[in-house]
Amino acid sequence: MKHKIAILPGDGIGPEVMNEALKVLAKIEDKYDIEFEYEHALVGGAAWEKYKEHLPKETLDVCHRADAILFGSVGGPVSEQDNEKWRGVEVNSLLGLRKEFKLYANLRPAKLYPALAAASPLRADTAEKGFDILVVRELTGGIYFGDPKGRAGDGEEEYAFDTMVYAKKEVRRIAHIAFKAARTRDKKVTSIDKANVLTTMVFWREVVEEVAKEYPDVTYEPMYVDNAAQQLTMRPSQFDVMLCGNMFGDILSDEAAAITGSLGMLPSASLADGSFGMYEPGGGSAPDIAGKGIANPIAQIMSAAMMLKYSFGMTGAYDDIAEAVETVLNEGYRTGDITESGCKLVGTEEMGNMILSKL
Ligand code: NAD
Repeated sequence: MKHKIAILPGDGIGPEVMNEALKVLAKIEDKYDIEFEYEHALVGGAAWEKYKEHLPKETLDVCHRADAILFGSVGGPVSEQDNEKWRGVEVNSLLGLRKEFKLYANLRPAKLYPALAAASPLRADTAEKGFDILVVRELTGGIYFGDPKGRAGDGEEEYAFDTMVYAKKEVRRIAHIAFKAARTRDKKVTSIDKANVLTTMVFWREVVEEVAKEYPDVTYEPMYVDNAAQQLTMRPSQFDVMLCGNMFGDILSDEAAAITGSLGMLPSASLADGSFGMYEPGGGSAPDIAGKGIANPIAQIMSAAMMLKYSFGMTGAYDDIAEAVETVLNEGYRTGDITESGCKLVGTEEMGNMILSKL
């Protein structure tokens, strides 16, 4: 079976790190005797130059023909944000794609590689234990999108309001994603809520509990969000999959990523119903280092690995790539963003080649 992939490298370091991900995918084709079909398209500032749009119809057409999107990054230098080429580029490209493809599930792994434990802001004895967390965040509902929202009144009587709302089917479908993901990992789901205060969250807990019964092989536990925020810093190794609504997931996925100490290393996935998904590194286009051949390609390579696992069901290939990355880090190879004394400093291409050599 041929898998069709839309390749959207974007701006800045995007094309550089995408090259390395494509090399890894080529190796996976050989190793697993499988074929990928690529269609490249422009997005972000790169698309603006040709179409005067950040997400042109031509690019959407390419994505519609594909089984998955592998995205690089978009954006220009912070000093040029007012330039029309860059104004609104992230919202137009990323949110545009999320909306177009109804990408309602955001998966963000936060893994502390033992070799990089010193970079973590956690206490050394906590960091040494390591952790490997997958935050599953509902992306299209909850308080960010609930109706009504607005402002009213005047003077001292002026007020503002948002609405937190979740439909049963929204909670059910994201819960299924979390439990299914847990089955390919350590088989534990911690569902984050605030059921002691919010009616929406009492409902959230009820629905998740129902779904949990369909996965007797997966351990389920509910946890209040305030406790989860503390537990992440004190005992992160207790978590496997953290299932969250939109707002709590927004906050906790950043916290989970921050305690790894190497934000630029983390991939992410945004999934729709079925197997379609968009995969992208957690970081931005890094204009400060673009074109220098020194960007870290690991987040892009791991994004491609997530695509294999979640869109194409190739869990073995995902594990192979993850292991190759870990081996290279254990051997002391580092790009500039994660380097420390005593390590071997390498550039983008060399890091990609080292990972390839371990596959
Ligand atoms: P950034 O993530 O691009 O860069 C922050 C810092 O991290 C920089 O010093 C950069 O050099 C470094 N960095 C990031 N990724 C790296 C990598 N793979 N290897 C080595 N170092 C890396 O964030 P920023 O500087 O705030 O934003 C730059 C542009 O990127 C802006 O236009 C912003 O809007 C955009 N942005 C895009 C995305 C996206 O496409 N998903 C996400 C965040 C920011």
